[in-house]
Amino acid sequence: KLGNETVKAELGRAAWRVLHTTFARFPEKPTKEESQALKTYIHLFQRVYPCGDCAEHFGKLLQKFPPQVSSRNAVAGWGCHIHNQVNDRLQKPMFDCNNIGDFYDCGCAEDEKKSGE
Ligand code: FAD
Repeated sequence: KLGNETVKAELGRAAWRVLHTTFARFPEKPTKEESQALKTYIHLFQRVYPCGDCAEHFGKLLQKFPPQVSSRNAVAGWGCHIHNQVNDRLQKPMFDCNNIGDFYDCGCAEDEKKSGE
């Protein structure tokens, strides 16, 4: 039982990292197609998330709080809020969403340099 909980938590940390880092790199001014792609990604992420119990709860949260995909700021804020909803249910501390700005680094500064050239 302890082993299972440890693995579930490890999966969760990895999953949240991918999600928040993806949101932090989403365009500030996305095209409609980019916003649609991100929305689809979030819903499919929920559908295939390997912890079935988590996926079910997350599905209900997505219904209550539909993904906000109009900009980087919108989706980063939404992601922080939805994670806090999960934190609340699991009785974990709330994260201060004002601090989300530089927290999630993709380690891909080179890409940024290239696209800025
Ligand atoms: P995590 O919640 O994994 O967070 C990792 C790090 O992210 C934190 O240390 C902090 O630095 C940062 N962080 C914390 N809150 C925020 C925030 N709001 N915004 C941005 N960054 C933040 N586990 C269950 O037992 N039951 C479930 O139903 C369940 N549902 C889940 C649903 C989803 C979609 C995901 C991705 C995970 C779910 N998990 C669930 C796993 C759970 O959320 C945690 O990932 C796991 O318990 C490990 O928690 P942790 O304390 O290490 O921090």
